[in-house]
Amino acid sequence: MASPPGVSPRCTSPAVFLRSLNAPLTAMRGIGPVLIPKLARLGIHNAASLLCHYPRDWEDRGIKNTINHFQRAAVCTEVTVLAHDWIGFGRTRTLKVYVEDESGQAALICFNRPWLEKQLVEGRRYRLWGRFYFKYGDIQSSAFEIEPLDENSAAGNSPFGGILPVYPLSAGITQAMLRRFIRYALEQYASNLEDELPGDIIRRDGLLCKTAAIKAIHFPATMAELEQAKKTLIYEELFYLELMVGRRALERKKGTLPRPGITACQFSPLQNRLLERLPFALTKGQTGASGDINRDMAGAFPMARLLQGDVGSGKTLVSFLAALRAAEDGGQTAVMAPTELLARQHAENAALLLEPLGIRIAFLTGNIKAGGRKELLRSLALGEIDVIVGTHALFSKDTVYKNLRLVVIDEQHRFGVTQRSLIMAKGEQPHLLMMSATPIPRSLALTVFGDMDVSVIRDLPPGRKPVITHLAKESNEGKVYHFVKKELAAGHQAYFVYPLIENGGELELKDAVSMAERLAKKVFPDFPVALVHSKLDDEEKRETMRRFRGGEIKILAATSVVEVGVDVPNAVCMVVEHAERFGLSALHQLRGRVGRGSHQSYCFLVYSDELTEDGKSRLKVMLENQDGFVIAEEDLKLRGPGQITGTEQSGYLEMGIANPVRHAEELARARTDAFSILENDPGFLLPGHRVIAHVLEQAPPFGEVVL
Ligand code: ADP
Ligand code: MG
Repeated sequence: MASPPGVSPRCTSPAVFLRSLNAPLTAMRGIGPVLIPKLARLGIHNAASLLCHYPRDWEDRGIKNTINHFQRAAVCTEVTVLAHDWIGFGRTRTLKVYVEDESGQAALICFNRPWLEKQLVEGRRYRLWGRFYFKYGDIQSSAFEIEPLDENSAAGNSPFGGILPVYPLSAGITQAMLRRFIRYALEQYASNLEDELPGDIIRRDGLLCKTAAIKAIHFPATMAELEQAKKTLIYEELFYLELMVGRRALERKKGTLPRPGITACQFSPLQNRLLERLPFALTKGQTGASGDINRDMAGAFPMARLLQGDVGSGKTLVSFLAALRAAEDGGQTAVMAPTELLARQHAENAALLLEPLGIRIAFLTGNIKAGGRKELLRSLALGEIDVIVGTHALFSKDTVYKNLRLVVIDEQHRFGVTQRSLIMAKGEQPHLLMMSATPIPRSLALTVFGDMDVSVIRDLPPGRKPVITHLAKESNEGKVYHFVKKELAAGHQAYFVYPLIENGGELELKDAVSMAERLAKKVFPDFPVALVHSKLDDEEKRETMRRFRGGEIKILAATSVVEVGVDVPNAVCMVVEHAERFGLSALHQLRGRVGRGSHQSYCFLVYSDELTEDGKSRLKVMLENQDGFVIAEEDLKLRGPGQITGTEQSGYLEMGIANPVRHAEELARARTDAFSILENDPGFLLPGHRVIAHVLEQAPPFGEVVL
């Protein structure tokens, strides 16, 4: 059972203290049964989670701002009530109160606050805070707070004169309520919390102790104190995240089977034979990655490695080298790709490169049926196949391996958590090599893949020229066509990518089907054009790709199916239509389809004439950057971590206050700290860790920690 969030103070026994923190919220002043489900919606179940409900913002109400300056900032002033008025009729009848300070007059619209009629007495003085706007000839506000200007008004509870927290809310819960509850919880429970960070880290970084940090995050005395509290709590979360990641990495290595293997990390005989047959030498990055993999595969634990490398960096070859090592150890390799197109390309390459070395290759997708499939599965189970390349079919129920030793997952972000676990379950702790051409920003890699080892290929094979990228308005498309025509005439090939397969006619969008026809008939009548998209049957797709690869087809009109992996070096033009409809990482992938040979390549991002400035500046990221890592970071900043590759990890990265992207630097430091502590003390666990336990327990276990 997961321990519930809680805090333990130094002076009370943890058990007693925890009980009080876990007491139902109704035990707290002002919280009745009606509020319980509403608070639960905010993730608040007890005093501990109340204390961890951090503000999303803070308002400085210590600074006076008179009514006449309402546009500059929220008004914070002292007013006299002038008059009452009622607007509307029946159920929409609303109180309107006129007030005045030394600079001018304003109107308070009291939606749903009829009781203010009695509280706001004409001629009396009040403190007022609110955001005002100009409407119907008045400076007015419906979002205001007001209280009598009374020498005796309870200090500390006043919404004025200090920095006030602004909390995330849910229906039926107001700012005032949360401020009251949290203030109460702070008084009751937070007077002597145990520090959750090691003392020497607190001292080294000048952080606050836990009690001070929790108090100051809610009700800071000064902005400087608030900054310190943030710094402390952010670090605390990141430290625990990395501590957990580190512990998981240790657990993975604990209790696994020792493996026999070759101890040296230089190339094995079979690998050397492949290298001799290649018309080129490995790049530095490929050599480094292969060395890492060989070392892993010779080691005592199953490999769990993420291979990152920009599009075209030659990851496939590295995975084939790994497959050779597995075969030499007598094991089978499964190479899994997200699309049939890509799987087939890998299978063809494998046949070309590995079969001559005596490696037996098979290709398996859901489309291989009946007799052929049965025969293939039988050979696989008998161990007559060394490398099987395919799609999801590789982990279907009837697929049985004799001795699955290595799992290679290409374009790993295209696979779901369950799928990755299913393929792993086909072997007995097989080695895992995940490959990603969507560069995972360092910040995310440290959290999400924190317990995997990472190899990065930073260089591209020599002779590659950076792709020249242009942005073009739709109305300038003619120029793009003209340019492409010149390249085609020089014997090169081109891709045209559209956001839709077919357009029912409702949207003003170009689609692949009708554009393929237009390109063939009107635009490039002298060059063969073909169409690929995901709805075509596989036979047709395969045939088209084969002819495009062979140079028979010059122009490929497609959807983003060509986004992953496809490798045709003679294709030098990539035209993406309605580019604004694609994510930056997708555009980077698409652009990566060209620039794979030694010719100069071009990418045209064609955007709608109506695209906003924001939209345009997003596309400009593509002009200014060729580096997939930088583009991914930009994408992440623009879209937030939850969306980078779907929804899977979004919840995982929702931390209390830290943001692994924005706080990347702190994250790296926290990782160093956590890992060095674990190195000396693998069982390291702080007694008071429970406040942020909810962050830790959300994280999926190893094998499911994937982007
Ligand atoms: P990605 O990393 O995007 O999967 P690929 O594995 O598809 O890249 O490789 C891209 C192309 O580069 C392929 O045509 C491959 O044959 C070629 N290639 C791989 N390694 C080298 C190298 N060291 N030198 C030259 N070309 C290479
Ligand atoms: Mg690839």
